Amino acid sequence: MSTGQARRDYYEILGVPRTASEAQIKSAFRRLARELHPDVNDQDPNAEEKFKEAAEAYEVLSDSERRAVYDRYGHEGLRSGGYSPNFEGFGSMADIFETFFGGAGSPFGDLFGAAGGRGRPGGPTQGGDVAVRAQIDLAEAARGCTVPVSLEAIVLCEHCHGNGAEPGTPIETCAQCGGSGQLRSVSRTPFGQVMRTTVCDSCGGDGRVATKPCRTCHGRGRKVQRVKLTVDVPAGIADGQRIRITGRGHVGEHGGPPGDLYVEVRVREDPRFMRDGDDLVTAVDVPAPLAALGTTVAVPTVVDGEVELEIPAGTQPHETFKVRGKGMPSLRGRRSGDLQVIVNVIVPRQLNREQRELMEQVANSLGEHNVRSEEGVFGKLRRAFGG
Ligand SMILES: [Zn+2]
Ligand SMILES: [Zn+2]
Repeated sequence: MSTGQARRDYYEILGVPRTASEAQIKSAFRRLARELHPDVNDQDPNAEEKFKEAAEAYEVLSDSERRAVYDRYGHEGLRSGGYSPNFEGFGSMADIFETFFGGAGSPFGDLFGAAGGRGRPGGPTQGGDVAVRAQIDLAEAARGCTVPVSLEAIVLCEHCHGNGAEPGTPIETCAQCGGSGQLRSVSRTPFGQVMRTTVCDSCGGDGRVATKPCRTCHGRGRKVQRVKLTVDVPAGIADGQRIRITGRGHVGEHGGPPGDLYVEVRVREDPRFMRDGDDLVTAVDVPAPLAALGTTVAVPTVVDGEVELEIPAGTQPHETFKVRGKGMPSLRGRRSGDLQVIVNVIVPRQLNREQRELMEQVANSLGEHNVRSEEGVFGKLRRAFGG
């Protein structure tokens, strides 16, 4: 992070007032972190930078001593106090999220823990969320469907049932932390001593270690596994909408609840239709003589095949007709959208001699009342541009 540039205010980054309580700061960061999670937010190329910024702001403001320094002396005060953000050295986003979304040794071990529970470091921690993408076509989106998805998830090891010990072997109190699961360290800064409590790296916060680690998961109690499941997609879903499946993300730690699975649904484009909310829009070609005489045309619908549409005599270019209820179903349970049919009047080309004579007869017979237009220029332009 460059130190030459003006740095954003930490309170501004988290969107909290300067008087915010510890709890407000924590929940503001939690919200931001979920929004910026790279699995969920892989379209935003700046998500990683934004997350680092938010994490740095949180690290300072959640620590009352650092916060006091920052309040009095700003960024400059922190720098001269020897503070540098913790995660600059992290290699990848995955490492950063391992730190924030659980994983042994996290200074914020309980941050994403069970709702409301304060939890000690290394205590129950909710598993991370997982995001996957599913592709369907427009007809499937209109009918509703089920799609198979496949994802890599952290699951409980079934060999040791998550306790990390080879079945039948004893689990003993951790020698390094004496069973508390926590280690305390004191560091000296120009602003006084800072006491930090971290999760014991020997037992991962459990306070107990397996004498003989499980041979399937090497004592971790959890493992990564490819998981396949089918997801119900409700009729009417729009491209890019996400379905949240509670509890199907990564398994929690130390008895914490699992994270959630987010399925982002991409709806393939259908060359016949454009979508406008719950309405679908299509276009039909009608030869000019038939637009003048009136006719019936076949119009495609997304799930019901073709329907007949009456084109009344004297229909003008770009006039739009509605086929009620043949759009997309409404996700909110309202009535279905409509199919809007735009008439594209085709003026005949390459006339043969006979057609030309007939056309001349028609043209010569036209009177003022046949071709009068009541619209002003603006009306005509609006119609031409589909307004
Ligand atoms: Zn195991
Ligand atoms: Zn320990």
